[in-house]
Amino acid sequence: MADYLVVDAHVHTYKTPEIGLQAMGGAGQAGCNGTPEELLDILREAGIAKVVQVNMTPMREMYHAAVEKLPENQRKGEHPEIIATMSERVKRRNRWTCELAREHPELIAFPSIDPLMGSEAMVAEVEACAKDGAKGIKLHPAEGHYFPRDERLWPVYAKVQKLGLPIISHGGVFMMTDYEGGASYTRPSNFEPVLESFPKLKLVVAHLGHGYWNESVELAKKYPNVFFDTSAVISGVEHLQTLSASDAVSLIRTLGVERVMFGSDYPWFSPASSLKSFLQLSLTTDEKEKILGKNARRILKI
Ligand SMILES: [Zn+2]
Repeated sequence: MADYLVVDAHVHTYKTPEIGLQAMGGAGQAGCNGTPEELLDILREAGIAKVVQVNMTPMREMYHAAVEKLPENQRKGEHPEIIATMSERVKRRNRWTCELAREHPELIAFPSIDPLMGSEAMVAEVEACAKDGAKGIKLHPAEGHYFPRDERLWPVYAKVQKLGLPIISHGGVFMMTDYEGGASYTRPSNFEPVLESFPKLKLVVAHLGHGYWNESVELAKKYPNVFFDTSAVISGVEHLQTLSASDAVSLIRTLGVERVMFGSDYPWFSPASSLKSFLQLSLTTDEKEKILGKNARRILKI
């Protein structure tokens, strides 16, 4: 256990074990179900003081599933009524996440939005989340099949930049997808137009840009407001380890130890074994202290 305040900057929470298990679709590596009750116990045991709940509500997937249920001759074209229903689901989940954060100060809320909602609804939702105590916004372009430069998101970036809310986005390979390579939408270089146009926006590319390490390095060199988290890539799960311990140390130092935050991607991975695996890296105590908490408190203002 570390002897300073540890922050896990990337977890997902679910209302019930059933919903959590369904979200993971059998890909969970930690035997966890994602409920706040389970998570709070894990945190106490592992000595983790705070976690950042990043929402991922698969709006695109839910939308397509609903369209598929329509009679065949009605499936073509836009379905505003289905979009409205799914937008409500995204918002309900966001309200729940913010409510949890109010009840439990150790659970920070980063609700999500999806371009399918439309620009106006996304901006309104960002405002609602900010009022509701959210500390930032989560995007998952890999799940939603959109690029970070998607013009529907432009008003959102302007809004979060104005509100001073950071964005955490999935970065690099997405393991739960069927498109080739799994990173079409979220390779780190795809975030360039956003960072270029919104220089004050703080953007966290999750998973150190999973698999596209050099692109993360290039991005970090060019843009001072891009940050990273270690979730899923320093997990302690041997067969999914894509970075060796020594490569992880040199990547973190090249990106800048001030710009990397520890994360686990619970419930897919275990916060306890991710922490254990991180503590084993040959970084200095000062570097570990930054990555395990100081950076998150400064970057995410938590
Ligand atoms: Zn995640």
